[in-house]
Amino acid sequence: MATTASEQKLLIGGEWVETGSWVDVRSPYSGELVGRVAKAGAADARRAIDAAEAAMQEPLPAHKRAEILVRVAGYLGRRHEEVAQTISAEAGKPLKAARVEAARAMSTFTMAAVEARKLTGETVPMDASQAGAGKLAFTLRRPIGIVGAISPFNFPLNLVAHKLAPALAAGCAVVLKPASQTPFSALLLAELETEAGLPPGWLNVLVGPAAELGDVLVEDERVRAITFTGSSGVGWKLVERAPRKRVKLELGNATPVIVEADADLEDAATRLAANAFAFAGQSCISVQRVYVQRDAYDELLSHFLPKVEALVVGDPADEATDVGPLIDADARDRVLAWIEEARAAGATILTGGDLDGELLRPTVIANAAPELKVSCEEVFGPVCTVTAYDTFDEAIELANGTRYGLQAGIFTASIKTALAAAQRLEFGGVTVNEAPTFRADQMPYGGVKDSGNTREGPAYAVREFTEDRLVVIEL
Ligand code: NAP
Repeated sequence: MATTASEQKLLIGGEWVETGSWVDVRSPYSGELVGRVAKAGAADARRAIDAAEAAMQEPLPAHKRAEILVRVAGYLGRRHEEVAQTISAEAGKPLKAARVEAARAMSTFTMAAVEARKLTGETVPMDASQAGAGKLAFTLRRPIGIVGAISPFNFPLNLVAHKLAPALAAGCAVVLKPASQTPFSALLLAELETEAGLPPGWLNVLVGPAAELGDVLVEDERVRAITFTGSSGVGWKLVERAPRKRVKLELGNATPVIVEADADLEDAATRLAANAFAFAGQSCISVQRVYVQRDAYDELLSHFLPKVEALVVGDPADEATDVGPLIDADARDRVLAWIEEARAAGATILTGGDLDGELLRPTVIANAAPELKVSCEEVFGPVCTVTAYDTFDEAIELANGTRYGLQAGIFTASIKTALAAAQRLEFGGVTVNEAPTFRADQMPYGGVKDSGNTREGPAYAVREFTEDRLVVIEL
């Protein structure tokens, strides 16, 4: 068992350990101390890898792995409220969104348990060539080895789940480094895994200086795969620095949505208002750029702006709150500077653009030129742009006008237009008549271009954590 909610040790080789120094975690809303966590350094990271290596000497059979994963899902259900409160306290995530995240993590573990039970290779049609005739061949799916997992602050539980659960399903031990701002959700999950019967060393959790711990994961040859979710600058550097490892990236986006004039505009406005500002826009698929066919522009805004203005800004611990704080003052100041850049360049702030106390109000910007940061970079704040277009081609070009490619969406009554958008939007996923913020945890989720190089969702992630081994038998 970990010690208390407010003073947490690290998990290395099945032991909860102190290190002599601490990382303080403060509420992004009030600045109050949420708790402190033992701070790991490079030597602890090496010990964690030693423990993972030792654990993998005794492989866990698939049925045991599946049972553990199912048990964790059950424990997440039993301790749902505590889990949601932990997410909310450390990330400043409004409680209602934190509860959704806690429920989704159950689904991630449940889906991973299914994958553990059906992990299998395939037979090779050997007599399809002369060379293979008279032989039988098949592949086994083998765990790749130790997985280094690095996760961001914005979904401190479910994005950790998306790494731990498929890695365990694949039979890999994990060394996890959660975001320093939000380590408690990850450590709570580690506690649940231990209670569920995960033997020592299969999961090790380190909190501490990112570069120092990251360097060990990059440099130690025993770590065979790194799974990273976070910003694109950090992610692509890891790929460069570890060319011989499988480095899998889930990165940012500048999420576009096209609204055609034939769409149900009120429904579109409702979904966009809910998904541009939830968790203050700090989701990699938060709606950021809305392109509206010119004939429908005024009507869409007439539905959209009142819904945005009705969002409740405030304390994330308050049941009514929709929009809470950004993760820290630096993030808030950066987003304010991007809004100012747009304003100075002639864009119109239709609502928001300023602070409500310390909190940034939901902001809608019109006439933002495509080269402005709010139009092509990832805002990661409660900001969205609205822009009128004349032709479908123009809408596609505007939506694709970013280095990112995670998810995009279109609202239209025409199946033909929807399918054309699905073909032409350069993104890993396209939603139709739903905000592209939508994600169910079994979906193949991931990006193209600067948004990453993999797909998460247990059925897909599990492939990244396994390798084929070929067996050939002379008949
Ligand atoms: P971040 O600053 O890149 O941090 C992500 C993780 O990387 C943290 O654990 C961080 O540790 C660690 N890190 C930082 N520098 C490192 C280094 N040199 N070596 C190894 N690890 C390092 O990202 P964030 O601000 O937490 O998260 C926001 C970003 O994540 C956004 O761009 C968002 O779009 C993206 N995201 C993507 C997805 C997706 O599935 N595609 C989902 C959620 C978020 P510290 O916390 O200790 O600095």
